[in-house]
Amino acid sequence: MALIVQKYGGSSVWSTDRIKHAARRVVAAHTAGHEVVVVVSAMGDTTDRLLGMAREVDPVPPPRELDLLLASGEQVSNTLTAMAIHALGARACSLSGPQAGIVTTSVHGEAHIVDVRPERIRRLLDHGAIVLVAGFQGVCRETGEVTTLGRGGSDTTAIALAAALKADVCEIYTDVDGVYTADPRLVPTARLLRHLTYEEMWELAAAGARVLALRSVEHAWRYGVTVHVRSAQGDGPGTVVSDRLREVREPVLVGAAAPAGAGPEVP
Ligand code: ASP
Ligand code: MG
Repeated sequence: MALIVQKYGGSSVWSTDRIKHAARRVVAAHTAGHEVVVVVSAMGDTTDRLLGMAREVDPVPPPRELDLLLASGEQVSNTLTAMAIHALGARACSLSGPQAGIVTTSVHGEAHIVDVRPERIRRLLDHGAIVLVAGFQGVCRETGEVTTLGRGGSDTTAIALAAALKADVCEIYTDVDGVYTADPRLVPTARLLRHLTYEEMWELAAAGARVLALRSVEHAWRYGVTVHVRSAQGDGPGTVVSDRLREVREPVLVGAAAPAGAGPEVP
């Protein structure tokens, strides 16, 4: 039995149909005997639409109101996913970021996670429930306010939870098959990278690869969280990001049976 954190990006929960699809994947992992914590982004372009509406009514919205508004996007997708899981006959409980024990700094719009108190999640898992956590948000202990983590922040929520819960893996479900040498939607010859070190992933994210938010990679690196980037639709191998990859990636040299010099060329 493993403890798995699964994160679904906005495109993977774009519609209620996609939410049902994600729910089936979640329940399959749970039925296979794993403990599952799920983090969802807001549905599709919800965050952009909420931002647009805020600016229509107030060109400079108060940061506190804006954060409370934006945090609602993830609460919609989170509760709907919990319901879709319930409809499949499994036990699910959804929590907002503050309810899940995500504690942040006070800076609205770009808060940093400073603490994760996973006791409530742990208790729910012990009772056999699938636990859903709204991504991209937390609470500042000093001010008591709801904060958001900056664009792409659900990745950071998922990885921070994986670290706090000592999860075996943090699976990031997205609309591409994994991490490519270039954007596969623009460059047809782009190659899927099966394994990356934290440093390599950090460099790609810093150079603008949008598959993982930069801060989430830093978090994974610091706490040694194994991250598996996968397609929410297909069943491809995806990309594993961890620090023990050299051994996996190095071509396995043909053993004693092979005559000297007959092994594969090592680049
Ligand atoms: N919904 C937020 C955004 O669009 C957070 C996320 O999706 O990770 O940036
Ligand atoms: Mg993202």
